[in-house]
Amino acid sequence: MSYEKVSILGVDFINTTMNEMIARLGDHLEKEEKAFVVTANPEIVLAAHNDQDYQKLLAKANYITADGIGVVKAAQLLGQPLPERVTGFDMFMALLQLANEKSYKLYLLGAKPEVLEKTKQAVESQFPNVTIVGSHHGFFEWDEPTIENEIKETEPDLVFVALGFPRQEKWISERISSFNKGIFIGIGGSFDVLAGEVNRAPEIWQKLNVEWLYRLIQQPSRWKRMMALPIFAGKVIGQKVKGSK
Ligand code: UDP
Repeated sequence: MSYEKVSILGVDFINTTMNEMIARLGDHLEKEEKAFVVTANPEIVLAAHNDQDYQKLLAKANYITADGIGVVKAAQLLGQPLPERVTGFDMFMALLQLANEKSYKLYLLGAKPEVLEKTKQAVESQFPNVTIVGSHHGFFEWDEPTIENEIKETEPDLVFVALGFPRQEKWISERISSFNKGIFIGIGGSFDVLAGEVNRAPEIWQKLNVEWLYRLIQQPSRWKRMMALPIFAGKVIGQKVKGSK
C-alpha cells in the first residue's frame, strides 16, 4: 500500500526521497507558490508531542521531512517505512544547487553575525548565479520588523531560516501569511556547517547511521539534548503497542 504521510507521535512526515522532495519544491518555485518546510528530528517530534502549541504550529507546515535516522527508524518500527532521511543540510545544499541553475534570489536568516558572513561568502563563491537579496543574523528582538519588511520588499524565492528549533518554526509560521511567495525552510545549524564552524560527519559515519554520535563528539555540550532520543524511542514503541491493539 502506498501512503503519502507517516504519523509519528502526532507529527505527519511526508513519505518522500530527497530527490522527489527537491523536485516538488522546484515545482513550487517555478509556479512562484509559497511553502513552509520543517525538517524534523526526534527532538522536534518530542517537543511537539509535549507541547500542543508547538504541535499546532508544525501542523501549519506544507511539508515535514525526516531529519535524522531516528525518524526513519521510528517509521520502520511503525510499519510505514520512510525511504531515507531528508535532512535540513542536504536540502539546503540541493536547493542552493537548484537556485544556482535557475538564478534564484535568496534570503538568509540566522546564526551568529560572523557565521552568517562566512555563510554568505561560501554561498557566493560556490553558487555564483544566486543573488542574496538580504540576510540577518539570528539574535534579534522577536518583534523586530526589519527582517519581514526586507523580505516583503525583495521577494526572495528561497528563505533559509537557521535559528534552531523551536524558534525557526515559530518565526516562519507566525509570518508566512504576510508574504506573497517563497519557500521558507527551517534548517537548524546548517549555516555553521557551510561556514566551516562545525564539521559535517564524514560519509562513512552517515552511512553507518551514527552522524548523531559524530555531532556529540564534536559538541559534547549536546549530550543533554541527546537525552531526547531514548525518550522518543520509548514513546514510539508506545505508539506501536497502542496501534497493534
Ligand atoms: N541560533 C540563532 N538564534 C538563536 C539561537 C540559535 O540564530 O536565538 C542559531 C545558532 O547560532 C545555530 C542554529 O541557530 O546556528 C542552531 O543550531 P543547532 O545545531 O542547535 O540546530 P538544531 O539542532 O536546533 O536544529
